[in-house]
Amino acid sequence: MQITQEFDFFVIGGGSGGLAAAKQAASQGAKVGLADFVKPSPLGTKWGLGGTCVNVGCIPKKLMHFAALAGELRKDQVEAGWINTDMQGKHDWNRMTENVRNHIKKLNFQYKNQLNNQEVKYYNKLAELEKSNIVKLVDKDGGVEFIKSKFILIAVGGRPSYPEDIPEIEKKVITSDDLFWLPNNPGKTLIVGASYVALECGGFLNGLGYDSSIMVRSILLRGFDQQIAGKIEDYMVESGVKFINEAIPINIEVIENNRRLVTWKQKGVQHSDTFDTVLIATGRKSDTSKLNLERVGVKTNKNGKIICTIDDRTSVSNIYAIGDCVEGRPELTPTAIKCGQLLANRLFGGQKKMMCYQFIPTTVFTPLEYGCIGYSEEEAINKFTQNEIIIYHSIFKPLEWNLLESHYAQACMIKLIVMASTRRVIGLHYLGPNAGEVVQGYAVAMKLGATKEQFDATIGIHPTCSEEILTLTAVKGIDNPQKEGC
Ligand code: FAD
Ligand code: NDP
Repeated sequence: MQITQEFDFFVIGGGSGGLAAAKQAASQGAKVGLADFVKPSPLGTKWGLGGTCVNVGCIPKKLMHFAALAGELRKDQVEAGWINTDMQGKHDWNRMTENVRNHIKKLNFQYKNQLNNQEVKYYNKLAELEKSNIVKLVDKDGGVEFIKSKFILIAVGGRPSYPEDIPEIEKKVITSDDLFWLPNNPGKTLIVGASYVALECGGFLNGLGYDSSIMVRSILLRGFDQQIAGKIEDYMVESGVKFINEAIPINIEVIENNRRLVTWKQKGVQHSDTFDTVLIATGRKSDTSKLNLERVGVKTNKNGKIICTIDDRTSVSNIYAIGDCVEGRPELTPTAIKCGQLLANRLFGGQKKMMCYQFIPTTVFTPLEYGCIGYSEEEAINKFTQNEIIIYHSIFKPLEWNLLESHYAQACMIKLIVMASTRRVIGLHYLGPNAGEVVQGYAVAMKLGATKEQFDATIGIHPTCSEEILTLTAVKGIDNPQKEGC
């Protein structure tokens, strides 16, 4: 075996975590290489450098979510005096996707440039571990080379997983790996799953005007505050999304005109309907099966996720792993990025700082967005007792919604979970417009250990939705959450 290059640090995977780690290591003076190779989806969709977030995740999702909200705003525009707003105008899928793709391609190009500028050697090749310090790289034509590296970082992320019992399902459905790159609009769509991906995609497809049904196996948004999950469902139903609850698909057949005949079981009863598209959003599995991990001794759990210590080290001492492919880590872009940067600083910058997983904020970009930090009500009650926590709550109507009578007045909610003894805020939940923008800053306060009194002492910005978080007085179980007046 001939070694073509030697590195201090070699990164497998050019997504959120891998790119951040490679760039940071290079900035600390390390000799760095990075391999990124996109295996096409079962339907043949492929994309460029940047990983899930850039190509088939956060970025196209947020742009399409925005496109849907922009369409819904037409109703508000009429009541705001823009009387000529054309409510009959149909959404142009091709125009939207062309603009989304152009933006993604710009990002792909920028990432390549950044690697080049920082002298990170980029390989558009599929990597696997040959030995603990040797990586085999295979290009799209089957050409092979081997590189050697002192440290290796695995940041291969994940790919969508499919329900197991439906024959040849991968050829009959799409996943989020295909949705954002579809050449034609998806038409009437069935979305299977009930978490982040299913609710976000179902929400924006409905907002864009495509008939959308979401098939829920058990509950919405497992692990999130369930009262708020219920309110998200109510809002989506109000907006036109259909929910098929307590149901699982049992068969999918391709019928005439390339439509899908889907049969499902709901509470023991069989039903069927036809759809133009079936979108499977039933979770993701780590993309580690072809890396040869077992041969070099990198341990994984039964789902193929790599087992790491808190300093991101695998069971092989010079091999590290970060991001979605690691057991127990949040599957979020900012955590993968931060983990990668901190690891590079520890390996090459003489620093000791570890990743902190406490109070990581997140937002579900459903039509009405849901942002949260820390404990859900259920988790808090489980961990402490009901007496040890106080929950402040509020149901409010954003000022801007008052021009349009049909806005759903009970939709928006805030919940603060507070430790009774210390008054520290340990959970913050906001369901309302611009949740990502609203909750981000509160994560700083919560990381610094802010108390309810410090929230109360902070002056709000009026009139905003965010100020509602600073003026909560109603206690759950005692006071009515419905907010009156301003
Ligand atoms: P990835 O970004 O997945 O990158 C891994 C890279 O490794 C890929 O490019 C892959 O092709 C490559 N690779 C795999 N195997 C090999 C190999 N053997 N050789 C070479 N290259 C290889 N997170 C948020 O924070 N906010 C959001 O709004 C959000 N929205 C999302 C929406 C969707 C639809 C999805 C699916 C995810 C979303 N996420 C979001 C999650 C986020 O995209 C991931 O957490 C993040 O991309 C993980 O980064 P990563 O570096 O671990 O892996
Ligand atoms: P999740 O693992 O979060 O959820 C999977 C969903 O699919 C659950 O509702 C689950 O139901 C359901 N499900 C699983 N198997 C089946 C089955 N066989 N039949 C029917 N339903 C099934 O996956 P997602 O793909 O939604 O998200 C993956 C990760 O990506 C998230 O955890 C998140 O970290 C990240 N992400 C982040 C986003 C953001 O930050 N805004 C957006 C999108 C993704 P049940 O509860 O019954 O198990």
